[in-house]
Amino acid sequence: MRLLLVEDDDHVAAALSAILARHGFRVTHARNGEEALQALLPAGAPPFGVVLLDLGLPDQDGYEVCGKIRKRTATPVIMVTARADVRSRIHGLNMGADDYVTKPYDTGELLARIHAVARRAGASEEAAATGTGTPAVVRLGTVSIELPTRRVSVDGADVPLTRKEFDLLALLAQQPGVVFRREQIISEVWRTSWEGTGRTLEVHVASLRSKLRMPALIETVRGVGYRLVAPAAP
Ligand code: CA
Repeated sequence: MRLLLVEDDDHVAAALSAILARHGFRVTHARNGEEALQALLPAGAPPFGVVLLDLGLPDQDGYEVCGKIRKRTATPVIMVTARADVRSRIHGLNMGADDYVTKPYDTGELLARIHAVARRAGASEEAAATGTGTPAVVRLGTVSIELPTRRVSVDGADVPLTRKEFDLLALLAQQPGVVFRREQIISEVWRTSWEGTGRTLEVHVASLRSKLRMPALIETVRGVGYRLVAPAAP
């Protein structure tokens, strides 16, 4: 797998590149945001499987670089940073990062996370290519969810959702009637297993219930999680 390592510290980059190479990665090293964005450009080259993005870069804000990468490619991004505080982490995930690793990290953990995001990206690409998985439009009573365009409408009228609200609804809509565990939802939608998400999930569920004007659509399964309840045909 090709991996783009964005790291301005040459010593860190050399040590990490050696470890990654031993585990079968073909590493391209970029020393700043500009080099990283340039490295992603060439057409024809096999795409990167993962970008490891150090946030403390000399030329550009790492979060902005992440946003620019996300506009150009669907390649998963793992942010690597010394900033461990909650707000930095949430900001990173909101900027489109797929995961977030705090320095100093355990190499084994880093490798596991790289494999996990690459696997998720591969699985969704495969589903898109083969047309398997969830249909492009899911209809639940008056609610229509267009997955490719991320549009949601109720009775034909568009309902603007935030990015995470849509991700949450789309996840539940993959299997209406099936209970999704809380941890599973947080892991898939917020790309974290981390406990500090507090009441984020509850807040998003409440907001969806109200925006879709169907409080009963998302059922709380106490102590477990949530599921979509397909409304009975009128
Ligand atoms: Ca740095």
